Amino acid sequence: MADQRFVEMEELTISGFPIELSEKVFQKVAEGIMITDLSKRILHVNPAFEIVTGFQRDEVIGHTPKILQSGIHKGDFYQSMWTEVQTTGEWQGEIWNRRKNGEIYPEWLNIMAIRDNAGEIRNYCGIFTDLTDRKSAEKELKEMALTDSLTGVSNRYDFAERMQQLLKTSEKYTITHSLLFLDLDRFKQINDSLGHDIGDRLLVEVSQRIRELIKNKDIIARYGGDEFVIALSAIKHPREAAHLAESIIDALGRPFLLNEEEIYISTSIGISLYPNDGQTADELLRKADKAMYFSKENGRNQFCFFHDELKPSSKRHVVLESELRKAIELKTVKMVYQPKIDIVNNRITGYEALVRWESEKLGQVSPAEFIPHAESSGLIAPLSELIFEKVCEDFIQFNMERGNKAPISINISGMHFQQSQFVSTLKSVFERMNCQPSFFELELTEHTIMANGTETADKLNELKNLGFKISVDDFGTGYSSLSYLHRFPIDYLKIDRSFISNINGIKENELIVNAIINMAASLQMDVIAEGAETAEQVELLRRLGCGIVQGYYFSKPMPAESVSYFVEEWNISQQERV
Ligand code: C2E
Ligand code: CA
Ligand code: CA
Repeated sequence: MADQRFVEMEELTISGFPIELSEKVFQKVAEGIMITDLSKRILHVNPAFEIVTGFQRDEVIGHTPKILQSGIHKGDFYQSMWTEVQTTGEWQGEIWNRRKNGEIYPEWLNIMAIRDNAGEIRNYCGIFTDLTDRKSAEKELKEMALTDSLTGVSNRYDFAERMQQLLKTSEKYTITHSLLFLDLDRFKQINDSLGHDIGDRLLVEVSQRIRELIKNKDIIARYGGDEFVIALSAIKHPREAAHLAESIIDALGRPFLLNEEEIYISTSIGISLYPNDGQTADELLRKADKAMYFSKENGRNQFCFFHDELKPSSKRHVVLESELRKAIELKTVKMVYQPKIDIVNNRITGYEALVRWESEKLGQVSPAEFIPHAESSGLIAPLSELIFEKVCEDFIQFNMERGNKAPISINISGMHFQQSQFVSTLKSVFERMNCQPSFFELELTEHTIMANGTETADKLNELKNLGFKISVDDFGTGYSSLSYLHRFPIDYLKIDRSFISNINGIKENELIVNAIINMAASLQMDVIAEGAETAEQVELLRRLGCGIVQGYYFSKPMPAESVSYFVEEWNISQQERV
């Protein structure tokens, strides 16, 4: 049998392949192959033919391919197919055939005319692929192409299509829509430190929380890694978009419980309005994106509407980066110092070091803008090192001037803290500068501490062992519980400015501050209230039992040169009091 097949094969030269090779291919390929004579009687089929059609070789040899016809195609379909094979030597296309069990199925068929040495057609060869799997795969693909596979919300393609429809219907009427562009703050950090699994689950939960806040007619799509867009359709007033943005920021500010860990994130949102900001989805997206960047640059965890002044912002981005690079190289950033006052004994207990940078091209730039920028452009480590160095230099200077050894607290960037070399870098700067860590405190935000879980505890313990004291900065903004923070070696809690700034007006704030002070005391942490601007605030804080206060009421941050003058004035005023 095999010999006979070989003989028949020998008569054919398929694409000039050596015969043994053709035979091997013939046997192994996944495509069904059938070879006929000139009158289209089947001479040969391969194993794949048997599998796809369900017919055994013996059942088809000598028959024409008509036994496979499904009845779906009319006679002229086959006619034109064969005409093309005769004239061009080839035909290919999708064709519906019938298996032995009666099932009709689509296949991709390629028919070739095989000629002898004289150029005469001797045989026809049909090669086909079963499209059944591919068809259902295509259907799946189509569905998949519309939704984001991770979160199940629309993807950017579906979003574009639905926006187009929405805007088309809106042309005829005067309807306002708004588009929210949302980007999670520091998502990359979470992804890198806790793993992609947690990152993915976080995105799923984020999309669920957003979904709960929008209506069916609105569109939500995942636009990229940690970016979501929402079309809020047919709104009566931009206020509605602002409300939604606020609720989203609130909802995503609540902790996410993943792997028994509480994870904290925040989000920045940009908003554009149809038809004012743009007529097309693209334009609206671009402007919302720009507004989102502005929110980020202004400190994150907030929203911003697009407006014309935002236009140069992307250029600012570029200039900022190159200017900042220069500033680090030339060491032109400066530190200012804000005193912290022990309001029980009326003493200066220390200073917080805050960085200042005046760029030639951009003027004074706020650290709330350039620190996050340094974090996202890889400049945070060199910038932080420079800050440590400057603080050490100033500390030595204060010390020489009047033996003033009041401790200095240094703000630590969350991103820098996370880097594996953080502790060793810090240690080596302090060694090099010959400064004892026990005169220094490190301020880490609540977010930084909460976001890094177990690793945080190890790092904080290392820092404690070196002699540094640890403060939790902006406490009260991150929903962390004091009992959770108790696992970490923390010396100070700094109550966020937002609680202090209207502590006299809002009873709730007073209660919160009171609770924080009492609980912190029971956990052996000292409380520092920051941002006190008025005598009334300081008075209330004193009544509530807060020991240390910092704020414009006592002093704005001042250049290092002014510190000794401030100390002198302070001492004089204290002597006058008694
Ligand atoms: P922060 O650590 O919460 O710093 C307190 C901010 O509140 C400072 O703003 C300070 O000038 C301001 N402030 C102090 N008292 C008052 C007051 O009574 N009223 C008001 N309205 N504001 C007050 P600044 O210097 O613009 O810093 C902003 C943020 O930038 C800081 O927030 C901190 O997160 C970051 N930052 C500043 N310096 C550094 C630094 O050297 N390294 C790092 N990593 N971050 C820094
Ligand atoms: Ca601080
Ligand atoms: Ca703070």
